[in-house]
Amino acid sequence: MMRRLPFMAGNWKMNKTVKEAVDLVRQLKTSLSRVDDVEVAVAPPFTALYAVYKELEGASIHLAAQNLFYEEKGAYTGEVSPLMLKEVGCHYVIIGHSERRRFFGEADETVNRRIRAALGQGLKPIFCIGETLREREEGKAFSVIERQIEGGLKDLGEKEFKNIVIAYEPVWAIGTGKTATPEQAEEVHRFIRERVEKLYSLEIAEGVRIQYGGSVTPENVKGLMSQENIDGALVGGASLEADTFSRIVRFKEI
Ligand code: PEP
Repeated sequence: MMRRLPFMAGNWKMNKTVKEAVDLVRQLKTSLSRVDDVEVAVAPPFTALYAVYKELEGASIHLAAQNLFYEEKGAYTGEVSPLMLKEVGCHYVIIGHSERRRFFGEADETVNRRIRAALGQGLKPIFCIGETLREREEGKAFSVIERQIEGGLKDLGEKEFKNIVIAYEPVWAIGTGKTATPEQAEEVHRFIRERVEKLYSLEIAEGVRIQYGGSVTPENVKGLMSQENIDGALVGGASLEADTFSRIVRFKEI
């Protein structure tokens, strides 16, 4: 089986001033300087991207944005284009996060447009999917995820898809302290990989990295990472402190 490089990304959401952001990456650079078997990214708010990019020069930590708009430029007050993110050093961009779906009207179709716009500028999407508690309780988790995958990846060829990372984030586990058990998460990750195989090929499905997100901590990361189809984590709350995020990245040493 193909070996997938574990990928840990910190989603800082609407947290950290520029100064706080620079302080945090400075600490991460030190605590993660010897990690070379896990890929790492941080996603500061837009306002701190450039300063963090400067601070990260020469380090192996990648920069990610938390969102983008799909148009190149123009009269879209308050929005940020793929080119603008590329210019400030972004490598990844989180797309379709459940908070964007819930509070900002993001839907499968606009997620798809964002993914295509990101790829067009050479940015790698971290494509977020996941069911709400209600959908899970109604037995709809798998059909929702299937819809999100098909909608989000519409019209994307194999070559483009190879640049995508998928993040499975059950909405009921985000910021709630409730983590999916490793087995619960693995069941969905396996399902996602099977869907990707159906859309593309076995080779593509085996190569795609699928992160888990939802109250990941240094205490539960090892159990999650021991599952065959979990290739990393998208971390919210626990990525805001250098110590906890570093321990998550260094899960192999726990
Ligand atoms: C997230 O929002 O991507 C997330 C997983 O948050 P938390 O780790 O705080 O649940």
